[in-house]
Amino acid sequence: MKKFRTDTIFFQICAALFLILPILVLGCGDGKEGSEASASSGDKRLIVIGFDGMDPVILDKLMSEGKLPNFKRLAETGGFKKLATSVPPQSPVAWSNFITGMNPGGHGIFDFIHRDPDTMFPYLSTSKTESANKTIKLGKWVIPLSSGKVSLLRQGKAFWEYLSENGIPATVFRVPANFPTVDGDAHQLSGMGTPDIQGTYGTFSYYTDEQRDKLDEISGGKIFKVKVKDNMVKSSLPGPVNTFKTDSPQSKVDFTVYVDPEYPVAKLDIEGNEVILKEGEWSDWIKIKYKMLPLIESVRGIARFYLKEIRPNFKLYVTPVNIDPSSPAMPISSPEDYSEDIAEEIGLYYTQGIPEDTKALSEDVLDDEEFLGQTDIVFNEELDMLDFELNRFKSGLLFFYIGRVDQLSHMFWRTMDKKHPAYKSGDGHRQVIENAYIEMDKVLGLVMNRMGENTTLIVLSDHGFAPFYRAFNLNTWLSDNDYITLTDDSEGEFFTNVDWSKTRAYGVGFNGLYLNLKGREQEGIVGPGEREKLLDELSDKLTSMRDPENGEPVISRVYRADEIYSGQHTKEAPDLIIGYNKGYRASWETVLGSFPKDILRDNTQKWSGDHLMEAELVPGIILSNKEIKSENPALYDLAPTILGDFGIPRQEGMIGDSIFTEKVSENR
Ligand SMILES: [Zn+2]
Repeated sequence: MKKFRTDTIFFQICAALFLILPILVLGCGDGKEGSEASASSGDKRLIVIGFDGMDPVILDKLMSEGKLPNFKRLAETGGFKKLATSVPPQSPVAWSNFITGMNPGGHGIFDFIHRDPDTMFPYLSTSKTESANKTIKLGKWVIPLSSGKVSLLRQGKAFWEYLSENGIPATVFRVPANFPTVDGDAHQLSGMGTPDIQGTYGTFSYYTDEQRDKLDEISGGKIFKVKVKDNMVKSSLPGPVNTFKTDSPQSKVDFTVYVDPEYPVAKLDIEGNEVILKEGEWSDWIKIKYKMLPLIESVRGIARFYLKEIRPNFKLYVTPVNIDPSSPAMPISSPEDYSEDIAEEIGLYYTQGIPEDTKALSEDVLDDEEFLGQTDIVFNEELDMLDFELNRFKSGLLFFYIGRVDQLSHMFWRTMDKKHPAYKSGDGHRQVIENAYIEMDKVLGLVMNRMGENTTLIVLSDHGFAPFYRAFNLNTWLSDNDYITLTDDSEGEFFTNVDWSKTRAYGVGFNGLYLNLKGREQEGIVGPGEREKLLDELSDKLTSMRDPENGEPVISRVYRADEIYSGQHTKEAPDLIIGYNKGYRASWETVLGSFPKDILRDNTQKWSGDHLMEAELVPGIILSNKEIKSENPALYDLAPTILGDFGIPRQEGMIGDSIFTEKVSENR
């Protein structure tokens, strides 16, 4: 039983609302009953390590250069192959294929972003937060009568649910698209998709007296203009929206920084916690309490402070306030006290889905070196967690996830690719991506040395990597080609300037293209008779389009959802999935329904590598200590592979086969 109930609103705000709701239902007896599976599978063990974004070409190259001895040893034992990724190759989609053994038609996750056909509003695809719908107003307080609920939108049963049914213990550590975690006996800590305390995917705070061009309009963070007065800086750290108050203000906690007049040192004072920081130093995790109602327990978060500079300018970065794993305001693990057990053993840790703060680097709040320092904090926590899990792992399944290669490949591709528009000569960080692979080799070595006999080991990634040279504004292209009619020539946002009564097709998310269908979209105009012709026409036009700069195809393949997906959710898919050519990707703006002027532009940003392209261009990797017999293994083969390794047959709805058998199912 989950202790949250009721109806709908939109994601970020609602997730924030939700955070403060559980405090009213404390003690409603939600179980810590998720005990270990009673039956045992003997001492049979299977470890699966998921390295998000690890690319077969880079891996192969570094292996042949002798830089990855543990990967090489594993490849020589059971094999190393490319692993077919999902269409489209986005992490939530790909890991959902892994989790369910289905394609998106089965699990219903088609993109990071879906849209509501009634409102045409985009939302994050993997979870939904519903707020309490009945409230009493008491002066300035709004008291919810029933508490809210957060639910996972991924459909299809997870493979570890079948393991639990068969009495096999399982630990699933931070797999994406599993927030909130599914009910059951398996130990799970949620990963990608887990919000910070504000209900966002990570909002840092930055305090400075420096002049900056864009103060408010940055993504993933908030910049606060402060003054150093009498050697003091006074400001506050924002928290969740306080829905108990009628105007729902954002809660905050005040803090003071005392700056030493002579030395590059400052003292931070927040809620009675005093921390001395030198310039360039990170604090440990500090617990933050946001008071929502008088006399009622507060919402708890944790944050780390980084004193970037004292003079000439004051610069203080604060991590997004994460859900405190030792006293979670939202359920981030199953059983619920599992996140606390980990904290007890290794100390506080990042709980937000993607902890590497790529936004702070993109916005020049952290420089390359500082960002790497921040990701090292994340990685060291991951190493402690891995050690904790290996210690408690006796039998059954252990899945462990590390997102480091993916995040560093996104941010540092520009340093090693001379063709990249953001490439700079003399860059001191050319080795970052290679080093990340070498670090993962050490992780692998550690697992191989400690896993013992009688253990199957599988190492995989969800997709590979490619350069992101040029950004494509799909919606601008649709508008220029008369598929979308705009009401004005502003760039717009969330399709607010679209005349739906004269619009036949639109793009939402990183790879999705939808027709404006009669009977499906609120103001749909495309009838059933026109559908086929329009889909063919769009596919032809998009694949024949060339980049005027170099004559390259921008889109190498367009998939039809009704041809590539199977399962009961296929009808919810975008009609077409855009497979971008290597080097190209949807622009950030087009994904949420904006219309920048140019159809294509150079990507000069630090976010310089990507994988949101044609699936065949960015396969992942798979290695094992057991012979991989499958000729063309795919992500959706993993669920049947894992079940098969414990002697459990492939389950209904799964479309793959064990990679340890030669047979290829006709379902594929
Ligand atoms: Zn990625």
